[in-house]
Amino acid sequence: RFWKPGTERPQLVDDEEGGVIFVSSTPSHSIEKQRQRLPVYKYRTHILYLVENHAATIIVGETGSGKTTQIPQFLNEAGWAEGGRVIACTQPRRLSVQSVAARVAEEMGVTLGDEVGYTIRFEDLTKPGVTRIKFLTDGVLLREMMEDPLLTKYSVIMVDEAHERSLSTDILLGLLKKIQCRRPELRLIISSATIEAKSMSAFFRPSKRREEKGADKLGPTKEPAILSVEGKGFTVQTHYLEEPASDYLRTAVSTILAIHDQEPPGDVLVFLTGQDDIDAAVQLLTEDNTRRSSGLLVLPLYSGLSRADQELIFSPTPRSKRKVIISTNIAETSLTLEGVVYVVDSGFSKQRFYNPISDIENLVVAPISKASARQRAGRAGRVRPGKCYRLYTEEFFNKEMSAHGIPEMQRSNLASSIIQLKALGIDNILGFDWPAPPAPEAMVRALEILYLLGVIDDDAKLTSPVGFQVAEIPLDATVSKMILSGHLLGCSEEVITVAAILSIQSIWVSVRGSQKELDEAKLRFAAAEGDHVTYLNVYKAYLQSGKSPQWCHKNFINYQAMKKVVETRGQLTRIAHRLGIALKSCEKDTEVFRKAVTAGFFTNACRLEGGVYKTVRNSQEVHIHPSSVLFRVNPKWVVYHSLVLTDRHYMRNVMTIEPSWLTEAAPNLYQQKSSNFDAR
Ligand code: ADP
Ligand code: MG
Repeated sequence: RFWKPGTERPQLVDDEEGGVIFVSSTPSHSIEKQRQRLPVYKYRTHILYLVENHAATIIVGETGSGKTTQIPQFLNEAGWAEGGRVIACTQPRRLSVQSVAARVAEEMGVTLGDEVGYTIRFEDLTKPGVTRIKFLTDGVLLREMMEDPLLTKYSVIMVDEAHERSLSTDILLGLLKKIQCRRPELRLIISSATIEAKSMSAFFRPSKRREEKGADKLGPTKEPAILSVEGKGFTVQTHYLEEPASDYLRTAVSTILAIHDQEPPGDVLVFLTGQDDIDAAVQLLTEDNTRRSSGLLVLPLYSGLSRADQELIFSPTPRSKRKVIISTNIAETSLTLEGVVYVVDSGFSKQRFYNPISDIENLVVAPISKASARQRAGRAGRVRPGKCYRLYTEEFFNKEMSAHGIPEMQRSNLASSIIQLKALGIDNILGFDWPAPPAPEAMVRALEILYLLGVIDDDAKLTSPVGFQVAEIPLDATVSKMILSGHLLGCSEEVITVAAILSIQSIWVSVRGSQKELDEAKLRFAAAEGDHVTYLNVYKAYLQSGKSPQWCHKNFINYQAMKKVVETRGQLTRIAHRLGIALKSCEKDTEVFRKAVTAGFFTNACRLEGGVYKTVRNSQEVHIHPSSVLFRVNPKWVVYHSLVLTDRHYMRNVMTIEPSWLTEAAPNLYQQKSSNFDAR
């Protein structure tokens, strides 16, 4: 009654007998048997042949067919890691890097970090000379090019999940194409779950003239190979809502309970948009102590999960239990979960959007594409025919969802990408061979900001030393600039601590229904100067507690997050050290520290005008986020770290400033506007 069966047939429809049957990872099947059952196994020889003979090989295969975990092993077995060479496999997300690396190490029976390792930002689990297969984020591989522009230690680079078209993936593809001209022996594999093979192949196809010039050279053919791995999914029945849901979180929860109540055994995979919603849904389900929810094993899945939590996701569902995994779109194609028979799809995900006119970048909850919706539905058909419940109407699917997503390159702030390209000596950014060229306005905007930050000069070249130093630090240019200014002002210790804290989602534990206690806990650390100084207080108190988990618990501070902060801080300290920056504290002089923050974030300055905040640069109306300690305090002048858009633009991580600091930090930008400034 509630659900209307879909008329759109999902793309996975093969359930004829004799198809490959996927078996969940029960101990009775040896790992080798499991491997042989994966669809890519049949293509082993073919894949190795193509990689041998083609500079680039494009492999398309259904999620779960074994691309990520098997192909690097095939290459290793075939000798591509002999002589100290390394096979690289990139992923857009940190969590999938860790997860697949752990799985491959297990399959090979080696310790993670030895023959099979991984590197993500601020975490390197590889051994030079020992590691043969290395999983890493595409962003980390880009960073490695700064030290080794031709990526000489790699024999094969597999750019995985290419259909996601993440910012770093796209830049990487452009650069790898260049590298291959200089290193014909390097092999590329571009792999993805959905068909984009033709345009990818066109991108890697050499232009006619080049081909003739290089025709006498021996080596692999430049013409990219395309291989499609046949995977056999089962039929998935889709159901739509008859009426739009008013509260999608509650609808998701009641749908899960209805499945549990009425449907035969099988795990449930739920796609929500972010950590907050996922935690809320987990809580609603675990609080539901009625008979309806008994026997449910509810697990969240999002980046930032601890390794132990990650392992729970993949461990077999206990008998008489039904696993419910509530995930971001990471489970759409990057991670394969066995045993899922039911999918609940919210139809939304968090997406980055950038407006070059207002220079505002937001994470926005927006409808996913039809292609994504099909992928999500497909996750229900791995073990047997499944069902997908879409928490939206069929009309919404038809009218509001675009056929494909927009590459991230075309909806992002480009500052970081431009710095990276410039650091690699690519100065003609406009002429760069992009897989999908970004908007010229966005490019101009990024150059303008970098100029204001003192990262590039009048000729748009990286400045020395600031520009090159900013490029060395794996953080946003604004944060890197803050660190460099902190060094000059004598508070490198404080800015590095805050940079580490800003690099994680939140240090607070948010528990639904205990907002009051959380606010009270925050008050214990709250500084009148705002969130940044509050963070310094928290960090100090955390060290004084002896990094105690109990202390964290008592103060509504996320212990895992603090551990991560300490780790990241250590990494940043090492990077700073390389740049000749020693740790120095400004002790109680928060003004010096706030000046350093302003030197990085002056473009995010706002002032209170008639009860609302307006950005100084664009007079855009913004509000202080309720999570900030300055919420309701409303000081006259502030800078913020980031904006989130819900019903309106909210500033997260807000700090008070003196307007004169803006003129100091960016004379070019603010002198002309000084007439707007109140004489104080
Ligand atoms: P693809 O990259 O083509 O989507 P994968 O190589 O990731 O496929 O997955 C192949 C198989 O390995 C799947 O059946 C999946 O369930 C299993 N697998 C992958 N990662 C893990 C893990 N961490 N634990 C258990 N099984 C896993
Ligand atoms: Mg994969």
